[in-house]
Amino acid sequence: MIMIPFNKPYLTGKETQYIEEAVRSGKISGNGMFTQKCQAFFEERYGFKKCLLTTSCTDALEMAAILCDIKLGDEVIVPSYTFVSSALAFIRQGAKIVFADSESNHPNIDVDKIEELITPKTKVIVPVHYAGMSCDMDKIMALAEKYNLLVVEDAAQAIDSYYYSADRSRPVCTGSIGHFGCFSFHETKNIISGEGGLLAINDERFIKRAEIIWEKGTNRAEFFRGEVNKYGWVDTGSSFLPSEVIAAFLWAQLENLDDIQNKRKQIWNQYYEGLKPLADKGCFELPAIPEYAENNAHMFYLVLPSLEKRSKLISYLKENGILSVFHYISLHTSDFYKNKHDGRDLPNSDRYTDCLVRLPMYYELKDEEMERIVNLLIELYE
Ligand SMILES: *Cc1c(COP(=O)(O)O)cnc(C)c1O
Repeated sequence: MIMIPFNKPYLTGKETQYIEEAVRSGKISGNGMFTQKCQAFFEERYGFKKCLLTTSCTDALEMAAILCDIKLGDEVIVPSYTFVSSALAFIRQGAKIVFADSESNHPNIDVDKIEELITPKTKVIVPVHYAGMSCDMDKIMALAEKYNLLVVEDAAQAIDSYYYSADRSRPVCTGSIGHFGCFSFHETKNIISGEGGLLAINDERFIKRAEIIWEKGTNRAEFFRGEVNKYGWVDTGSSFLPSEVIAAFLWAQLENLDDIQNKRKQIWNQYYEGLKPLADKGCFELPAIPEYAENNAHMFYLVLPSLEKRSKLISYLKENGILSVFHYISLHTSDFYKNKHDGRDLPNSDRYTDCLVRLPMYYELKDEEMERIVNLLIELYE
């Protein structure tokens, strides 16, 4: 029996060639030709004001937390159903995390329940675009304006995803609406560089400081542009920029972005069509695509009726050579945070913790493999 893995990182074939070019160029530290090509690509294609490559999305979130000027005791609203980094980046700056529940029909943060969590100490809202599907950013930005808050979009999964603003006519790139957007190129994401990330700075006020924080608290970027005649230590920061080796890898992926995305969308749609009859019979829920969101085919997940049914499904698929996996464990129940959480129940988040399962989803998943998965599910429920 041939095993079908949950994920398989896709290589376009040009990665090692560009890495070799970077190495031979003699400039392998950060902010070289490949880094600048990647950043310009994102700025042009998606309309971000300024992009900085980072070594991970976690790093991009940490940069955003520094730029938000988080001080001890500031409150940051984060969904509980997310990856650790969405909260950790702010905890490191001294924030208190106020966890929010998911929507009943989507793992994304329930925007209608954010306002009741806002206090005079609230400083930032962190919408996480789960499965690459955008949160309702109009509502979030309206709250941010009303209460003078900053918005950091955790768009780790949301590369090449779009949001339809209020009149629903004009799609805007997900991650370009909040003050900051943070993306991941981890090998489990759509576009990869092994580890890697991107900070999109959408509010011009933060660009200059972002460049300084990116380069260990120095004004080196300005120096290299010839804007100052020497550079030195001017602020806090870290070494957030990736080497040219990573940027070269990423460039090979970006050249093939449309091909990768088209293939993933085709796989996603095939799953959806194949499994719809079972969802209609009530066996499980399929991913909901909110009316204002576009699907970037990052993930294909099902929501089962119970933890027990999900466990059975995962074992059944495994016995048949298919690796499916569950996802986040609500962060408000984590060992690290449960004693710091304020005790509110977050039932929707807990439901996704117990009931959500992700099916294999990667570029090289073959038609017949997908058919095998769909047929196995059909057999299971017959
Ligand atoms: C993958 C992911 C991250 C972390 O990305 P890294 O690049 O591995 O740091 C953060 N948030 C979400 C929602 C993710 O899916």
